[in-house]
Amino acid sequence: MLELLDLWSLLNANYDDLCGERYGRLTAIRPVRCLPGVGVVWQCVCDCGTVTDPVRAGNLKSGNTQSCGCLRRERVIATSTTHGMSKSPEYVVWQGMLQRCNNPNHDSYPHYGGLGVCVCPRWEFSFKDFYDDMKARPSDKHQIDRLDAHGDYEPGNCQWELPGKGSKRDQ
Ligand SMILES: [Zn+2]
Repeated sequence: MLELLDLWSLLNANYDDLCGERYGRLTAIRPVRCLPGVGVVWQCVCDCGTVTDPVRAGNLKSGNTQSCGCLRRERVIATSTTHGMSKSPEYVVWQGMLQRCNNPNHDSYPHYGGLGVCVCPRWEFSFKDFYDDMKARPSDKHQIDRLDAHGDYEPGNCQWELPGKGSKRDQ
């Protein structure tokens, strides 16, 4: 129930009716009150089903507020899982490369890490940098191939290659 003061503040306010308007994931459902110097704050419902605390009309119109907070949470999660690409074919290749070079328990370690083959620091600590350098894997048949089979996994020494065309070492 609207408090009387809230109702009174709205009756005396001159404001745009945002009822039913969408802003990002939010839909304005009712004006709550008019705050001096701020304007009308609106209760909204988010696409995820959450009813928000009152949001300033100005923040809705400017795009500052676009969700109940779920959008921001999803973005944080996406960033922390390497841009949401943790299931991408490139990510799988990246992980395999790190395993071969850094994990002594990996079956292929003796042919890689055991021979002194390293993953350059730029790639070792950042899937994003690896992806920026290598770009998308052309097909799921392509393997990461080292031009110099004794060289490291690093920009300039690696390319996507079909099995049988280049070195078979990296399959
Ligand atoms: Zn939400």
